[in-house]
Amino acid sequence: SPVRSNVIIVGAGISGISAAKVLAENGVDDILILEAADRIGGRIRKEEFGGVSVELGAGWIAGVGGKECNPVWELARSSGLRTCFSDYSNARYNIYDRSGKIFPSGIAADSYKKAVDSAMEKLKKEEVNNHDADLLKLSEPPSTPKTPIELAIDFILHDFEMAEVEPISTYVDFGEREFLVADERGYEHLLHKMAETFLLTSEGKIMDNRLKLNKVVRELQHSRNSITLTTEDGCIYEANYVILSVSIGVLQSHLISFRPPLPRWKMEAIEKCDVMVYTKIFLKFPYKFWPCGPGKEFFIYAHERRGYYTFWQHMENAYPGSNILVVTLTNGESKRVEAQSDQETLKEAMDVLRNMFGTDIPDATDILVPRWWNNRFQCGSYSNYPIYFNHQLVDNIKAPVGRLFFTGEHTSERFNGYVHGGYLAGIDTGEALLEELRKEERKHDSQTFLL
Ligand code: FAD
Repeated sequence: SPVRSNVIIVGAGISGISAAKVLAENGVDDILILEAADRIGGRIRKEEFGGVSVELGAGWIAGVGGKECNPVWELARSSGLRTCFSDYSNARYNIYDRSGKIFPSGIAADSYKKAVDSAMEKLKKEEVNNHDADLLKLSEPPSTPKTPIELAIDFILHDFEMAEVEPISTYVDFGEREFLVADERGYEHLLHKMAETFLLTSEGKIMDNRLKLNKVVRELQHSRNSITLTTEDGCIYEANYVILSVSIGVLQSHLISFRPPLPRWKMEAIEKCDVMVYTKIFLKFPYKFWPCGPGKEFFIYAHERRGYYTFWQHMENAYPGSNILVVTLTNGESKRVEAQSDQETLKEAMDVLRNMFGTDIPDATDILVPRWWNNRFQCGSYSNYPIYFNHQLVDNIKAPVGRLFFTGEHTSERFNGYVHGGYLAGIDTGEALLEELRKEERKHDSQTFLL
């Protein structure tokens, strides 16, 4: 017979764990967390590489030093997570061309300003377009980037630093500083600390049978009275309520079939939200051949193909002597690299590095290529709402369907795409469900009173 719980939480990433914690702290103990992977953390994930811990998913605590305190920064401080200040605004002064020359800072700064102006102009037009499509037709289209340096800057601006073009809630609310997690226990240490407050642990391991790993939910049958979940291994679970914390990419992928299907307004909202793919490739070297020191943590490669091994970072600030470089690819380039062998990717990356630093640099001794797009429990890296989205869109993505509640970074209107977005979304959903449970209790009490 099916296992019955009051509330089932699907997914043990930061949003699922924070939702579960809110419930547990408010006396809702009869919970069950079903996680598809063999570990908690979801898109917060470390791996041992080249003798240190590297973060395959979230790596920065973004939004620190402002008027309000980022709750994830608070968690990091209270759990003693090691971090280091990281500033990629200097990257624009370290732009290499294909022959290894660094663009003079004047040219780089001018191109940067031009790109910011053009992006702002484009945004303004999109805003106008929202109100008056005819006006848009009359105006000149903003210049499109063409040269390698313009393409490189366009990539950095749009895939990393949109804050220069339009206000980003994370920076507005929490401040503009960013800290890189540099802790052997990983970013996921925060999640373990949080889980420990309400799940039983022994010797640092979660032993609570309310957390079930390797449970891939494949079917969700929902009715007025209850929800039944079926996992890939044939187990059946029943609950009064379910909180679904899987990513927007997973919702789009149909990994889980809903019976009856989700209503149209829900499906349409889910389809409309873009999924961003963001890939950090790690390369280990026998020794350093890149410049270090102040302002040199990040460097850029300008190539005629947009986003082709553009954005580089060395890990000397986080782990001195680790001799590791990280190159970040996004979207189309991420998908292309995920589909090829790591050896091919290594060759491409080495060719790029040899263009920048000369032919006599050593070969990388190891490479690590995360595959977020092809991971069926993620299907991408994070949600990306269109800049001028209708607020109804997020409301619909977040809105419960009967007894089924939705959470995850994609349900956070202000902070989607971030760890703090997932964390706050979980708290929000946990509280919304508590409210629902209390309402039901009151209804039940008044009925028994009448009897
Ligand atoms: P998830 O962490 O995805 O949790 C959902 C869980 O559901 C997963 O554990 C998954 O395994 C599980 N699941 C999926 N399907 C099923 C199923 N059918 N049955 C059961 N379980 C299932 N944020 C920052 O703040 N700073 C950064 O620097 C940063 N960089 C990033 C870099 C990368 C490469 C990526 C991928 C993300 C990055 N992010 C960053 C975003 C951040 O990691 C996410 O916003 C956040 O971790 C999402 O948490 P979540 O709980 O919403 O989702």
